[in-house]
Amino acid sequence: MLEGMMLTLDRVTKTYRAGAFGGGSVTAVDRVSFDAAPGEVVSLIGESGSGKSTIGRMILGLTQISGGSLTLDGAPVRPGKDFYRRVQGVFQDPFSCYNPVFKADRVFAMIRRAYHPGVGDREWAERVEKAVRDVRLDPGQVLGRYPHQLSGGQLQRLLIARALLLDLSFLVADEITSMLDASTRIDVLNLLAGLKERGLGVLYITHDLSLGTYLAERTVVLRRGRVVERGDTQKVFGNPLHPYTRTLLAAVPRLNTPWDPPEPVEHCAYHRGITEPDGGGGLYRAEEDHFVACAGLPDCGRITA
Ligand code: ADP
Ligand code: MG
Repeated sequence: MLEGMMLTLDRVTKTYRAGAFGGGSVTAVDRVSFDAAPGEVVSLIGESGSGKSTIGRMILGLTQISGGSLTLDGAPVRPGKDFYRRVQGVFQDPFSCYNPVFKADRVFAMIRRAYHPGVGDREWAERVEKAVRDVRLDPGQVLGRYPHQLSGGQLQRLLIARALLLDLSFLVADEITSMLDASTRIDVLNLLAGLKERGLGVLYITHDLSLGTYLAERTVVLRRGRVVERGDTQKVFGNPLHPYTRTLLAAVPRLNTPWDPPEPVEHCAYHRGITEPDGGGGLYRAEEDHFVACAGLPDCGRITA
């Protein structure tokens, strides 16, 4: 049985050193705060370069944080065997995770060697088949094949199956559907919905508003390393307060509805009287579980630095 973990980011910052001579630095992630409860999908949305993958990699312990605090069930990320048993990432390009020389199921053998050395052959084969069926693949069709004999969607789902063979509690899914065709994308999203029902926490990273966004209970909108708006998905997209969130929504083509440009935002949240600071990353609380940053428009005297 799976048991989720509570992920908490509190003003998490990442500064990369830039340039070969140690001169400048780039703040890729700037005081980002949000959390994800077990059994919850949180979507992290922002354009390319906004810092999404950096956040994913910090959660996975692949990149060190420069400031703030990042905890899973109250404990700081400590990469190692015990950690990766419970926290895993699946990334955009499934092909890069496989060695073309070896059969795709080698990714399962590696898990067995590292985490389940005591499990016998027969029992292991049963577990693998179950995990493969859990991701809605036919073991007979995918096991024993080489990566080039499988589609991107099949490889992606095998990676999720591999994660299921661990005592997984939290999954970072970084743009996992962008390489998939529409029908496979829906399969993978259904799979994430299933994980959530089993109690896992999922961070669903995406660069555009897509079906996955609607799967998420909560949404974090990231722009240039900062959270501009976050909270309950229905509130953030039903009542978007930041001009950037409105721009994202306006970019989504909707069927059967005439295009309706969002009303221009005249004032930032501060000037609309939403002044209760949330305390994390300079956001204001607009309503229950809905926070927004100052838009910093030219006429705004309250630009949060
Ligand atoms: P996203 O996933 O939203 O496209 P990234 O987290 O990959 O964004 O990148 C955010 C910013 O950090 C970008 O400006 C990128 O160039 C920079 N960056 C990412 N990784 C590194 C690195 N290892 N060294 C220096 N800068 C990096
Ligand atoms: Mg990325």
